Amino acid sequence: MTQTHKLFDDDAYLAHCEATVISAGPEGIELDATICYARSGGQAGDTGTLTLAGGRQLVLADTVYADDRQRILHIVQGDDLPQAGERVRVDIDWQRRHRLMRLHTCLHLLGALVPVPVTGCGISPDSARLDFDLPESTLDKTRLTEQLNALISAGSDVRTDSITPEQLAAQPELVRTIGAAPPGGTASIRIVEIAGVDRQPCGGTHVRNTLEIGAVSVTKIEKKSRTNRRIVVQFA
Ligand SMILES: [Zn+2]
Repeated sequence: MTQTHKLFDDDAYLAHCEATVISAGPEGIELDATICYARSGGQAGDTGTLTLAGGRQLVLADTVYADDRQRILHIVQGDDLPQAGERVRVDIDWQRRHRLMRLHTCLHLLGALVPVPVTGCGISPDSARLDFDLPESTLDKTRLTEQLNALISAGSDVRTDSITPEQLAAQPELVRTIGAAPPGGTASIRIVEIAGVDRQPCGGTHVRNTLEIGAVSVTKIEKKSRTNRRIVVQFA
């Protein structure tokens, strides 16, 4: 079984790359490597363009995982698809992706401010939400907004490293999201750390420093169910 080389794991700032088509069909285009983040963990998949050797451009509408969770599929508009073996240039809609990275990193800060289990997550270019298992709440939008912006302004570095499943099993407190434990058999688990604030397994794309997030505002604190409190964040 093939596995797409995820270039964004090592460098979330790559806005374009060259790759070779492995297969192309109605389910999407599989490349040997990609900079496109595939929809997962609440973060939206990347959009952009694929440019073929002759200059023809395909609009990339979404990026998703195949059912095997190993291969990344690029969903393009139209049905005039490239052939296996063709070279393509991939360009992502960088402004959109950068907003996703900024909001995603912001959610790690929000999670650090509300230290209870996370039950859900969603990140789109304009807003992001975390759901918390929080029956009673004294959370206040204004106060949370101030706390979040203070963490952002602190200019903390964001770094990734990796640990083994055994090391993760020995530190169960690192897993913040209920049901989000990495699948068994994964040789290494990617860890995202915001210096002094947050450290947890995460496969998403993040900015290098919290300052890059910019000013944000907590726009909603909703009670979705008895144990589910949803907090929505947007750019200020
Ligand atoms: Zn993350």
